[in-house]
Amino acid sequence: PVGLLTFGESMVSLRSTGPLANGGTLNMQVAGAESNVAIGVARLGHTSAWAGAVGADPHGEFIVTQLRGEGVHLHHSVHPDRSTGVMFLEQRTADLSRAFYYRAGSAGATISRDHVAAALDGGARILHLTGITPALSAEARDAVEYAAERAAGEGIVVSFDVNYRSKLWSRDQARAVLGLLARHATIVIASDDELDLIAPPQAGSGAAGRPGNTGASDEATADVEACAARRLLEAGVREVVVKRGAAGAAVYTAEGLLEAPALAVTCLDTVGAGDAFTAGYLSALLGGAKVPERLHRGILAGAFAVSTRGDWEGLPRPEELALLDAARGSTQR
Ligand code: ATP
Repeated sequence: PVGLLTFGESMVSLRSTGPLANGGTLNMQVAGAESNVAIGVARLGHTSAWAGAVGADPHGEFIVTQLRGEGVHLHHSVHPDRSTGVMFLEQRTADLSRAFYYRAGSAGATISRDHVAAALDGGARILHLTGITPALSAEARDAVEYAAERAAGEGIVVSFDVNYRSKLWSRDQARAVLGLLARHATIVIASDDELDLIAPPQAGSGAAGRPGNTGASDEATADVEACAARRLLEAGVREVVVKRGAAGAAVYTAEGLLEAPALAVTCLDTVGAGDAFTAGYLSALLGGAKVPERLHRGILAGAFAVSTRGDWEGLPRPEELALLDAARGSTQR
């Protein structure tokens, strides 16, 4: 069996260095939260596999070649009539990137239960799922639900990153699907503003709390987060990992709360930070590390992602992990 198996849609992303409305040069890269995690885990020295569908076009060929080149095992299919999805990523300002998707009806959305079943037959220690895939199509949603349930039943560690995408569905639509999925997960990974999409409702109230509401004090936000995490743990999740951007990350387990600050690095590009964190965290788990070391590895991988350009291109190999200890502006000769 591979260390980590994941599946979802990978697209080509066309990146601009300035406002898209001005045109100019675009750089083509592979994009996809799940394939980012598969690459990150492979770079860190563990086996990983990705399942998904691409179109019979050069874009699909590019994705397959890149993933293969990164050492990711592939269970992919090539759809004869549908195109590979495309996204534009615009660096609108130094602090704001915007994504524009051309993925509706893409080859990637056709991933099905049978496709995923074949990949799972090969075995895996961790199955990594995201909340993006169920938003792609009814087939894709069925595939994720099937995989989560089957893997949980087979004792495979199920990791689930909420990865809410507002351009694919509303928060209410997402909430109706993702909460049930989270309950099959061993490890839930979420940004602090995503917990309300998956936490079981508090007894006596209709809906889960909403962290990040304007006007809430930090303390109130922390309470909402802790409360949502506790309800997930009560529902059977073993670890609730919360990504807090430049403020670091936290892990809630039955033993309590563990928090770690982010590393102080120069931030060039935040896209992919969450996936890098997940790859770091899960690769440490594959290496037998306990929660504090997993958290540290996630923080480290996240710091690599933000201080290099590209969604995954800057992710570290094991021998590079110490590079961030060097003083800022150093040259190694
Ligand atoms: P995305 O969807 O853009 O990938 P995310 O919300 O899933 O992002 P973040 O919480 O932004 O994920 O980032 C994941 C981790 O990366 C953080 O927990 C942190 O450890 C690290 N990180 C993020 N931003 C910074 C930063 N500015 N400096 C250092 N580390 C950072």
